[in-house]
Amino acid sequence: MARIGIITCANCTQNTHCASVVCLGDMRKRRGFFEKYPKEESLDLIGMITCAGCPTLAAPEKILPRVEAIAAYKADALHFSYCMTALCPFINQYTAVVAKAFPNLDLVMGTHRPIDKGEFRRGVKELLCQELTRPQTMNHMVDGSLKVPGGPLQFV
Ligand code: SF4
Ligand code: SF4
Repeated sequence: MARIGIITCANCTQNTHCASVVCLGDMRKRRGFFEKYPKEESLDLIGMITCAGCPTLAAPEKILPRVEAIAAYKADALHFSYCMTALCPFINQYTAVVAKAFPNLDLVMGTHRPIDKGEFRRGVKELLCQELTRPQTMNHMVDGSLKVPGGPLQFV
C-alpha cells in the first residue's frame, strides 16, 4: 500500500473553485501519474494541501510547512498537481527545497493525465480574469463548456 499526498496550486484551485475532481478521479482509476501504482494495491490518500501562495524569489521554503503537514503522516510520495506543473513559475525551486528537506519522499511531477498546457493556461487565464458577472469555474473547463475569447479550447 502506498501512502500519498497531493499538493495543488492555491491560485488555480481556490480562485477557480476546483475541487480536484480530475486529480482524484484519475487517482481512483490509476490513470495519468497514478498509473505507477498497481491497481490491485490499495492507495492511501493521506492528505491534500494547496501551496502557501507566492513565495517571491526569496523564499521557496515557504512551501515546507505545507509539505510537512503530509510528510508527518508517513507519506511515501507527494504528487505535485497537474496545475502546479503547468502554471507555477516556482516549481523547480519548490522541488529542490522539498527534496532537500524530505529526502525520503518520492516527488511525482503530476496527477491527472496531462492535457494541452497552452490550452489549459488559456482556460485558467479566463477563469482568473473573468468579470464577476460571468462566473465560470473549473467545472466548465472539465465539461467543455468554458467560454474563452478566441474560441473553444482544443484539447487533444
Ligand atoms: S506559487 Fe505557484 S503553485 Fe503557488 S499559487 Fe503561485 S503559481 Fe500556484
Ligand atoms: S490538476 Fe486539475 S483537477 Fe487537479 S487541482 Fe489542479 S486544476 Fe484541479
